[in-house]
Amino acid sequence: MAPTEQRADYDVCIVGSGAGGGMAAYALTQAGARVVMLEAGGEWFASKNSKMLVPAWASPRRGASTRERPFGEFDACDGGWDIEGEPYTVASGQKFDWWRGRMLGGRTNHWGRISLRFGPDDFKGKSRDGLGDDWPISYDDVAPYYDRVDDLIGVFGSHEGLRNHPDGNFLPPPKPRCYELLVKKASDKLGVLCIPSRLSIITKPIHGRQACHYCGQCNRGCSVKANFSSPDVLIAPALATGKLTLITNAMAREVTVGRDGLATGVSYIDKKTGGDRHVKARIVVLAASACESARLLLNSRSTLFPHGLANSSGSVGKGLTDTTGTDVAGFIPAMVDHVPHNEDGVGGMHVYMPWWLDNRKLDFPRGYHIEVWGGLGAPGYGFMGGIQNYPGGGGYGESLKNDYRKYYGATIGFSGRGEMIPNAGSYMDLDPTVVDMWGIPVVRFHWQWSDNEYNQVKHMQETFRALIAEMGGEVFSPMPGKEKNYGISSGGSIIHELGCVQMGSDPKSSVLNANCQAHDVKNLFVADGGPFVSQADKNPTWTILALAWRTSDYITQQRKAGAL
Ligand SMILES: Cc1cc2nc3c(=O)[nH]c(=O)nc-3n(C[C@H](O)[C@H](O)[C@H](O)COP(=O)(O)OP(=O)(O)OC[C@H]3O[C@@H](n4cnc5c(N)ncnc54)[C@H](O)[C@@H]3O)c2cc1C
Ligand code: SF4
Repeated sequence: MAPTEQRADYDVCIVGSGAGGGMAAYALTQAGARVVMLEAGGEWFASKNSKMLVPAWASPRRGASTRERPFGEFDACDGGWDIEGEPYTVASGQKFDWWRGRMLGGRTNHWGRISLRFGPDDFKGKSRDGLGDDWPISYDDVAPYYDRVDDLIGVFGSHEGLRNHPDGNFLPPPKPRCYELLVKKASDKLGVLCIPSRLSIITKPIHGRQACHYCGQCNRGCSVKANFSSPDVLIAPALATGKLTLITNAMAREVTVGRDGLATGVSYIDKKTGGDRHVKARIVVLAASACESARLLLNSRSTLFPHGLANSSGSVGKGLTDTTGTDVAGFIPAMVDHVPHNEDGVGGMHVYMPWWLDNRKLDFPRGYHIEVWGGLGAPGYGFMGGIQNYPGGGGYGESLKNDYRKYYGATIGFSGRGEMIPNAGSYMDLDPTVVDMWGIPVVRFHWQWSDNEYNQVKHMQETFRALIAEMGGEVFSPMPGKEKNYGISSGGSIIHELGCVQMGSDPKSSVLNANCQAHDVKNLFVADGGPFVSQADKNPTWTILALAWRTSDYITQQRKAGAL
C-alpha cells in the first residue's frame, strides 16, 4: 500500500530535532522557509517537563537508573543504549556502544554542555602529521558561525588566547569550587594547563532566558532555560515564527527521490498508529545523528541509487570515529571532614584542562583534554560508589551515617577525552538480515582502536594518577596495563560518534561538499555529526551547531538564487 501523503508540501523537511536539526529549524524558519520536522521521539520541553528540583527521596528508587533512563530516573533522557524494538548489531568479536536519544531535542536535553570550538589545527590534521584527512574548510570558515552560536545560545568561559583552543564571545565563568582549587594547585605544580571551563549555561540573562541559579541539576533539564537544550532555545523560537510544523513520533524510513534524481521528501512511520506516511519537501536536511543519517541514506535505495542515496562514492558509513576516553578517581584525605561550605554551581565542572603538550615529543599523534569531577553533588541512589571502599568505612547505624558525612566530597576524578585517528576498520553498514520493529534494516558497526589511541590513553592514566598523587590522594584501582588496553573506553561509549556522511572536495571519496550538500543530490543536506572529517580533542556539539547554521545559510542563499 502506498504511504499516506501529508497534504501540505514544504520548502524543507528536517529529520531529527537535536543539536543539528534544532539549529537548522531555527535558522531556516528565521529566513522565511516553510519547514516540517520529523522527530522519532515524543514532545519534551525542559521548561515544562523537567524534574530539576525533585529530591531523590521523593521516589522509592531514589533516582536510580532504569533501562529507559540509563543516566538516572530524573535525567532528561528518553532513549539509551538499548531501545525496545530498535536493535543494532556489531561485527563478530568487536564492541561498539550506540547511545540514541528518542525525544524532541535528542541528546541536547541531558548532555554535559561542554561547548568547545575546534581550533585551526583540528580542521587540518593531515597537513600537520600526515594522518587522516584535512577538512575541505578551515577554522576561518566556521568562526563567524561559532560567534553567532555563542551569542544566540550563550556560553561561559575565559579569554586565554590559546591558539588551538579559540576563545569565544563568553559570559563570565563561575568561580572554582573548593576541590577545583585543589585540582588547579596540583595542575600548576605539574605544568598541566588548568583554566575555567566552557559550558553553554548562561551566567547572565540573555534573550528572555534567566541566568543559572546554581542548583547543579543540568542533566535533568533546566526549567528556567538557563542551559542549552534544542527544544527551549531553538525549536520554541522556530515554532513562534509560525513557519515550523513539528511531527513527533515520526520515524523516518527513507528519503524519496523523483525521476530527476532529486529528493522529493521523506517517508516515515507514524509510531502511534504504525501507519506509513510521506511528507513532500523541496529540500531535505538529515539531522538524525551521524549514524542514523547514514542509515537513512543506505536505506534509500532505488533504481537510480541502488547502493543508497548520495552513495556513488561508496563512502556512506565510512570514517566512523568516537572520542577516546578513560577515567581515574582518587580518594583525597585533605577533603575528609571538610569545613561545611557552599559548593553551589552549574551542573558540570567549573575548571578543565585543554590539551597542553606537543605531540611531536610524544608517542601518540593527537591530544586530549581533561574533565574534572567531584564535590558535593546532591546525593542519590548509589552515591559515592560504595562507602566500604573508604578507610574504615561501612557498617550500619550512626557510625555509617558519620562515615558518609566524613567522606562526602573527598573523591576527585578525571576523565580524558581525546582525538582518535579514523581507520579503515571503523565504519558502519546495514546488517544484511536484522530489521527493526518496522522492518527497516538496522545499523551494523565495525570497530577497532589502534596504538595511536592506546598510547594516548596510557598517557591519560599516568597524568591523572600523577595529579591525584600531587593532591596527596590515593587511587583505589591499579593502573590498567597493556593487557587491559590501559582502560580505554569502548568505541561509541563516550557518545561522540561522528563521520559516516563525510564532507570532502572529491565526490569520488566523500558524500558531501564543503556546504554539507550531497555531491550526488543537490537538494539533500546533512546537519549533524555525519559531515565531520575528523574528531578533535574537543566535544563536538558546538561544531555541529555552527556547521548546521552555516549549511542553513547556504540553503537560504541557494533558494534566493533560485538554485534550489
Ligand atoms: C550524557 C551525554 C553527555 C554529552 N555531553 C556532551 C558535551 O558535554 N559536549 C558535547 O559537545 N557533546 C556532548 N554529548 C554529545 C551530544 O549530545 C551530541 O553530540 C549532539 O546532541 C548530537 O546532535 P545531533 O543533532 O547530531 O543528534 P541528537 O542530539 O542525538 O538528535 C538526533 C535526533 O534525531 C532523532 N532521530 C533519530 N533517528 C530518526 C529517524 N529515523 N526519524 C526521525 N527522527 C530521528 C532522534 O530521536 C533525536 O531526537 C553528550 C551526549 C550524552 C548522551
Ligand atoms: S545548574 Fe543552572 S542551568 Fe543547570 S539546571 Fe540548575 S539553574 Fe539550570
